[in-house]
Amino acid sequence: MSQLTLNAPAKLNLYLKVINKRPDGFHNIKTLFERINLIDRVGLKDNTRGEIRITCNHPHVPLGSKNLVYRVADLMRTNYGMPDRGVDIDIQKVIPVAAGLAGGSTNAAAVIMGLNRLWRLKLQHKDLIAIARQIGSDVPFFLYDTSWAMGTERGDKIRPLKIDRKLWHILVVPKVKMHTPKVYGAIKIGKKEGQGNIGGSEGTNLLTKPGDNANILVHKLRNSNIINISSLLYNDLEKVVVQICPRIKKLKEKLKSLNAMGVTVSGSGPSVYGLTDSETAAKQIQAQLSNRYTQVFVVRTF
Ligand code: ATP
Repeated sequence: MSQLTLNAPAKLNLYLKVINKRPDGFHNIKTLFERINLIDRVGLKDNTRGEIRITCNHPHVPLGSKNLVYRVADLMRTNYGMPDRGVDIDIQKVIPVAAGLAGGSTNAAAVIMGLNRLWRLKLQHKDLIAIARQIGSDVPFFLYDTSWAMGTERGDKIRPLKIDRKLWHILVVPKVKMHTPKVYGAIKIGKKEGQGNIGGSEGTNLLTKPGDNANILVHKLRNSNIINISSLLYNDLEKVVVQICPRIKKLKEKLKSLNAMGVTVSGSGPSVYGLTDSETAAKQIQAQLSNRYTQVFVVRTF
């Protein structure tokens, strides 16, 4: 085998709670990941030039060492004693870039799995996970063959979940730049007695919502209707995202007025999604938004 092509699907965060700041500067979080059917295609081909060469159909994706897939290939060839090995990587982007949908991370995961096969490395799953964690917090989720998972620590410790439900979403990606470290950096975490590191009473973006509804949400996804599910969608980063870009609040209100349920920001934004009870309902909302927003998608659990 000298070439192969892989699917790289996006994710939504149906729940994201920031627990505390870690000594390494990252945050411990608890998040519920859902894999969705917005899918990039990643092609890998051995080359004899010893180069890592990236091509992409999207003009804003970096083609050099800033691309996460470059870092994956470089790390893997160095770690496994083949510093002169080369690979051509072609990324066909469908997932909007820098949107909170983990486009770069899913490409990286696809390349980790792909190079394991292409270069016949015979690495075990735990070795692939170790590489993924070095590349980024959102990468490990995509190494599991699951639609649903709970992520803890940096979001990179994954517990796959068996949930049969498939949800329909209306997803809008506003044309706004949202820098993930800036969003996390704007969160202040206080302490409240009896709440560990959660909640507080000072600062502009204190995390005040007590409790942890992630497990209840999982239960509802298995057993309950879409109204009950939508009432539990939550993202601690949302208030910062809205502060950076107040127009996202308007977008949320617009989606609610069109009967999207549980309207929430995904990850560190700027993507906003809501639930609908059918594909038809999602398409009706899409039709109403398409004249005002260029990136409006109807997506489903994948
Ligand atoms: P996350 O939710 O994991 O923080 P995101 O979905 O918000 O990520 P990405 O699409 O991964 O955002 O892009 C973030 C930045 O990463 C982009 O601005 C781009 O410069 C860079 N990047 C590196 N590799 C890739 C890639 N393979 N695809 C897209 N962007 C990439």
